[in-house]
Amino acid sequence: MSAHRTPVTVRVPAKVNVRLAVGAARPDGFHDLANVFLAVSLYDEVTATPADALTITCTGPDADQVPLDRTNLAARAAEILAARAGIEPAVHLHIAKNIPVAGGMAGGSADGAAALLACDTLWGLDTPLTELLDICAELGSDVPFSLVGGAALGTGRGELLTPVGAGTFHWVFAVADGGLSTPAVFREFDRLAEAEGTEIPEPEASPALLAALASGDAEALAAVLANDLQAAALSLRPSLAATLAAGVDGGALAALVSGSGPTTAFLCRDAESAEKVAAALSASGTCRATRIASSPAPGATVLPS
Ligand code: ATP
Repeated sequence: MSAHRTPVTVRVPAKVNVRLAVGAARPDGFHDLANVFLAVSLYDEVTATPADALTITCTGPDADQVPLDRTNLAARAAEILAARAGIEPAVHLHIAKNIPVAGGMAGGSADGAAALLACDTLWGLDTPLTELLDICAELGSDVPFSLVGGAALGTGRGELLTPVGAGTFHWVFAVADGGLSTPAVFREFDRLAEAEGTEIPEPEASPALLAALASGDAEALAAVLANDLQAAALSLRPSLAATLAAGVDGGALAALVSGSGPTTAFLCRDAESAEKVAAALSASGTCRATRIASSPAPGATVLPS
């Protein structure tokens, strides 16, 4: 084992779910999911530097909303890894935050995966990938995907991953004011299901969706992508309907709430169309900011120092 004395920086992507199928609430309160994750080229960077004790700083447009205490998933990742290795988590973690906070794009999960890889490299631990993935699953349902990136089907709570094929797609993301709490959106999903008395089917990702994803055919993917949490997110944040409509009017092939929201995602025909959709969304005044990205993006990656 050879520890680094110089800082280690890891770049990590955000995600969008092109299919988020939600099953009925389980006795433990979680929901079984069939989750098709796609990593997109919107990145946070986490830098690990040797220090006397575990400390965190964060910069970026939403930095004031990021907790800098031990509840930050990056701090928890460092603590769990250090405890397993029998060492002190003597590290300073700096998060350069570009992924919207509490936006349904797994930004906190991304930082957890990035901090894990950065500390593993800094401390020269060479932890096998399967063990890193176990720690990720302990940190949260979306964290294993942030580590591996690309495109994958997640089952269980979303943490059991199977890689799937994906062609290139172009996206615009509309960032909303404020966040939405993921547990609150799941509670609203349960409330709406009970009020409507609907039978919730077993969650699954259709073969048509997986074929469209693999083909890189944006029109085919636009016809089948879907998010079972969308109605719940719209119920809690009705103004998102205007954002979705503005993106479609601006030329997007499909619009959906990203994960538990409130970020909205717009699938576009190509990079040029994405520029136009982003301009239309900005002009509509229905969102705080727009970001253009493509998929699939690689998972957590150590940057050359
Ligand atoms: P997901 O899509 O996985 O449900 P999200 O993108 O909606 O997550 P996050 O950005 O991960 O939401 O933030 C959710 C909450 O997690 C924040 O409100 C914050 O209190 C907490 N949190 C913990 N660590 C971080 C982090 N590194 N970055 C951002 N938020 C964090």
